[in-house]
Amino acid sequence: MSEKPILIVGGGPAGLSAAHAVAASGRQAVIVEKADRLGGAPILQGYAKLVPSHEWAKDAIGGMVTRVQQNAKVTVHTGAQVQSFAGDPGSFVATLKDGTKIEADAAILATGFTHFDSLNKPEWGFGTYPDVVTTVQVEQMISSGKGIRCPSDGRVPDRVAILLCVGSRDRQIGREWCSKICCTVSANMAMEIRELSPKTNVYIYYMDIRTFGLYEGEFYWKSQEEARVKYIKARIAEVTSDGKRLVVKGEDTLVKRPITIPFDMVVHAIGMDPNVDNMTLGSVFGVNLNQYGYIGKAAAYTTTGQTSRPGVYVCGAASGPETIDDSIAQGQAAAIAALSRQGVGMAQAAE
Ligand SMILES: Cc1cc2nc3c(=O)[nH]c(=O)nc-3n(C[C@H](O)[C@H](O)[C@H](O)COP(=O)(O)OP(=O)(O)OC[C@H]3O[C@@H](n4cnc5c(N)ncnc54)[C@H](O)[C@@H]3O)c2cc1C
Ligand code: SF4
Repeated sequence: MSEKPILIVGGGPAGLSAAHAVAASGRQAVIVEKADRLGGAPILQGYAKLVPSHEWAKDAIGGMVTRVQQNAKVTVHTGAQVQSFAGDPGSFVATLKDGTKIEADAAILATGFTHFDSLNKPEWGFGTYPDVVTTVQVEQMISSGKGIRCPSDGRVPDRVAILLCVGSRDRQIGREWCSKICCTVSANMAMEIRELSPKTNVYIYYMDIRTFGLYEGEFYWKSQEEARVKYIKARIAEVTSDGKRLVVKGEDTLVKRPITIPFDMVVHAIGMDPNVDNMTLGSVFGVNLNQYGYIGKAAAYTTTGQTSRPGVYVCGAASGPETIDDSIAQGQAAAIAALSRQGVGMAQAAE
């Protein structure tokens, strides 16, 4: 079997995990990352403390970045993208946009997701009112150490509403999927807001709560019982302003009555869209996308990260909404699949 490197496209949690696993097996890994630094969404977007570990993103994912950067078996190209990808398993050649050629035994697509753009949900006030923000903006407020402030005038909000499922589970705008992690992230964020600004009241508007698995007790119940976060099961109609405060209008779906509540800040818990690059990635790497626009998987159980092209694997949020720990696990699985050329065929694997 040849000893060419494994090409890893994308240097977020999934790609970093894949690179570490490839290098730990003794093989060379080459990461091609389009941003100017590694770390993926948690680092590039400045997330605060992660769920479920409560570790700061800059420490947890920053540690994964350092581990890879210090590994002599990993070569990193930042600010780089693959322009063409030719060949067969065991003898692929990737050409970067600057002309650099990388020979590879196999490729792993760890290209992640794109945050939902709340401008696509105009009736919920983002882009119209400065105090309507996204969970990413609140993550940045917390990680910057500046605390929770209304962008319009810098005041500490008296009342904050977090609206769940913004850009997820919404057939009207072509996004049917659940983004998996935003209920837990929002419950945690509500507790962090209460801790930073004990006088701020936090309300979470929800359709259903999906703090799956062990997250139910640690985040959903704890946020209510210890941090006094209030949950409202509602269908939201619109977010407007009365000139002084934001106004969230909707229907309380438990008592089936209209509700109108004023807030100082409204937070959109945005979902995980397919990476905007996926059409290009699909065409460059010759892999199929699934019906939602994420990179498609060819097998559910035999080789979990296999794409439609033999020798090209996918992991993490590139193939659909994923948590960080699942993305990391999938990165390791993709590394094993790539190293052993799973799905390529016995004849080639034995070469
Ligand atoms: C507001 C918010 C908070 C979250 N908080 C948590 C949390 O606390 N805990 C948790 O488990 N999950 C959380 N998540 C989910 C988390 O962001 C994802 O699970 C994780 O980022 C997925 O890792 P990834 O490596 O698959 O993708 P990404 O983090 O998206 O990384 C993909 C990398 O690929 C690069 N890339 C993209 N396209 C290309 C290309 N064409 N060529 C080269 N490189 C490319 C990107 O620049 C990026 O560096 C949160 C999500 C949101 C929206
Ligand atoms: S995890 Fe919660 S907020 Fe996110 S899409 Fe699913 S149900 Fe909605």
